[in-house]
Amino acid sequence: MSVDTSMPSDRPISELFEQGRPLRSLEFYPPKDEAGVEALRQTAAALQRIGPDFVSVTYGAGGSTQARTAQVSAFLRDEFGFTVMPHLTAVNHTTGEIAAVAEAHYARGIRNIMALRGDLPDGVPATTAFRKDLRFGCDVVALLKNLHPDLCLGVAGYPEKHPEAPSFEADLVNLKRKVDAGASFITTQLFFDNEAYYRFVDRCRETGIDVPIVPGIMPVLSLKQVTRITSLCGASLPERLIRRIEAAGDHPEIIEAVGIDWALTQIRDLLERGAPGYHLYILNRARSALTLAAGLAA
Ligand SMILES: Cc1cc2nc3c(=O)[nH]c(=O)nc-3n(C[C@H](O)[C@H](O)[C@H](O)COP(=O)(O)OP(=O)(O)OC[C@H]3O[C@@H](n4cnc5c(N)ncnc54)[C@H](O)[C@@H]3O)c2cc1C
Repeated sequence: MSVDTSMPSDRPISELFEQGRPLRSLEFYPPKDEAGVEALRQTAAALQRIGPDFVSVTYGAGGSTQARTAQVSAFLRDEFGFTVMPHLTAVNHTTGEIAAVAEAHYARGIRNIMALRGDLPDGVPATTAFRKDLRFGCDVVALLKNLHPDLCLGVAGYPEKHPEAPSFEADLVNLKRKVDAGASFITTQLFFDNEAYYRFVDRCRETGIDVPIVPGIMPVLSLKQVTRITSLCGASLPERLIRRIEAAGDHPEIIEAVGIDWALTQIRDLLERGAPGYHLYILNRARSALTLAAGLAA
C-alpha cells in the first residue's frame, strides 16, 4: 500500500477535547476478507453524514487481521476524511514490531493511537504471549511516546474492573500508570449501568487520574450476543435490560429497538451529567449509530 504524504497530519484528539464539547466516536473492527472491506466502505459512507469526531479501528491481538487495521485506518482517513485512531496491542509483538506498525501510521499522518496490552489468545500463557519489556498497556504507552512525543494516545479503562485485576483499587493504580506514561484520554469498556461509570470516574479522580474518561456504549443486538460479550469483558447486565430483551421474544427488530432505546437513555444521561462524549461499539453496523444520532438530535 502506498503512503500519501501530501495530506496534512491529523489533529491530536486531545486538542478536540480541549474545545470543551462532547466528542462522538465510533469503533470499527477490521474485516477478515476483501468482501468485508467493501461492506465496511459502505458502512463508512453511510456514517459520514453523522460526522463522528473520530473513528477507531481495533487490532486483532490474535494476529490474523493486523494488516487490515492499517488498511482500514488508511481508507477511512484518506477516502472518507475521518480522523482515525488505530488500536495497537502488545500481545505477541516485540518492541521493534510495535514500533514498525506505529511508524507506518505516523508516516501516513496519523497522530492518534489506542495503546493496549491486548487479550491473550486462547490457550496461550502470559509467559509466552508477552515480551518482558512489553507486558502491560503502560509499556505500550511509554514505547509509543518515546518514539513520537506528539502522538496522542488513548488507553482502555474498566468501570467494572478488568477481569484479571485482583481488585478495583489495583486496577485503578495500573490505569494511572498508563496516564502517567503519557496517555491523553481513557475510553471505557462497555457498560449498561451508568452508575458504574460515575463511580469509576469518581474513583479515578480520587486516584489522581485527570484525563477525559469517555464512556463506551454498545447498543444490544441480541441476548446471545450481549451475554457472550459481557461474559468475556466482565460487564454486568442489569436485570431490567434482560427482562426487556426477553420480553421481545424472537423478534430481532424489537430487540434492536430495545437496545437502541437503552443506549439512547444511557447517552442522554451521560451527556447531561458532563461526560466528555461517548464512544460507540457499533460492530461495523451503520444502523444503530444512525438511529442513535437521530434520537439524540431530537
Ligand atoms: C476501549 C477498548 C478498546 C480495546 N481494543 C482492543 C483491540 O483493538 N484489540 C484487542 O485485542 N483488545 C482490545 N481491547 C481489549 C483489551 O485488549 C483487553 O481488555 C486486555 O485484556 C487488556 O488490555 P489493556 O491495555 O487494558 O491492559 P493493561 O492496562 O495492561 O491491563 C491488563 C491487566 O494487567 C493489570 N496491569 C496493568 N499494568 C500493570 C502493572 N504495571 N503491573 C501489574 N499489573 C498490571 C491491569 O490491572 C489489568 O488487570 C479493548 C478494550 C477497550 C476497553
